[in-house]
Amino acid sequence: MITGKTKLLGVIGHPVEHSLSPVMHNAAIAHLGVDYVYLPLPVNSHNLATALTGFAAIGLQGFNVTIPHKQAIIPLLSETTAIAHAVGAVNTVWRHGALWCGTNTDVEGFLAPLHALNRHWSDSIVTVLGNGGAARAVVAACAELGCAQIYVVGRNLEKLQQFHASWNYCVATKLQVASWEELPQIMPQTSLLINTTPIGMYPHPDASPLTLDAMIQLPAAAIAYDLIYTPRPTQFLQHAEKLGLFTIDGVEMLVHQGAAALKIWLQQPVPIEVMRQALQQQLKQG
Ligand code: NAP
Repeated sequence: MITGKTKLLGVIGHPVEHSLSPVMHNAAIAHLGVDYVYLPLPVNSHNLATALTGFAAIGLQGFNVTIPHKQAIIPLLSETTAIAHAVGAVNTVWRHGALWCGTNTDVEGFLAPLHALNRHWSDSIVTVLGNGGAARAVVAACAELGCAQIYVVGRNLEKLQQFHASWNYCVATKLQVASWEELPQIMPQTSLLINTTPIGMYPHPDASPLTLDAMIQLPAAAIAYDLIYTPRPTQFLQHAEKLGLFTIDGVEMLVHQGAAALKIWLQQPVPIEVMRQALQQQLKQG
């Protein structure tokens, strides 16, 4: 029940109507029996600074940040974590007294299903398809895992070079950028292949960033990881399944980035299974 004492959380973005976060967070809040509510908060780019002032005025406890504000919010925050700084994007903001602080829980979310495999990654060669916002979280995560080499594959050479130049020395030494045409040389060495492009996402479920023929070159022990969470499985993961590869879709990343954010706001353990079920239910309903 919402009362005058109920504390407010939310997600800001434009648009936010289709965000799955309210369902996931409110399910966890109800399960825990804490006096919070999580709301979708549509905010235009030109209103971002005003919105932040308003959030402080109404005592909002914290919020998620989605497209198009993940980068733009950084200069408006008093503090950002090292991981948010490395990724160059913030997806979670909380209040510290009168200050707003930000971090990026996509890295933790991305890593959760990989940590669950309980293996060593120091010999792993990672190939990341795409060089946008999600690819940045993936590269930071793979560097944190200690992977031996990270290839980032893109279609725009200038953007790829900027991507490479934006990392500190420690990450940059492991990172190589490549064009899609270079994939035939890279695929046979790849132990973890990650799609961070939107190719294959609803409403284009028949599209795939790679053909089955191109994926045949992957080693039999390779893992295929698609950040897309609708449809399930994507065409890319269907190709991987046909080749007998281990596959991971984007649902776990979404659940765990949300769980990490809720943990920051509530300062207590959160019910990940409840969040997963709520999300899966919502995805089934479309
Ligand atoms: P983004 O910043 O727009 O980046 C997309 C990247 O894909 C860019 O590098 C873009 O290349 C490339 N790309 C797009 N269409 C392409 C095409 N037809 N051929 C080749 N490359 C193409 O988007 P994002 O925020 O990184 O999100 C990417 C995907 O990850 C989305 O599907 C999103 O839903 C998913 N995601 C999932 C989670 C999760 O929790 N599971 C979290 C974040 C994102 P250019 O730069 O050359 O345009």
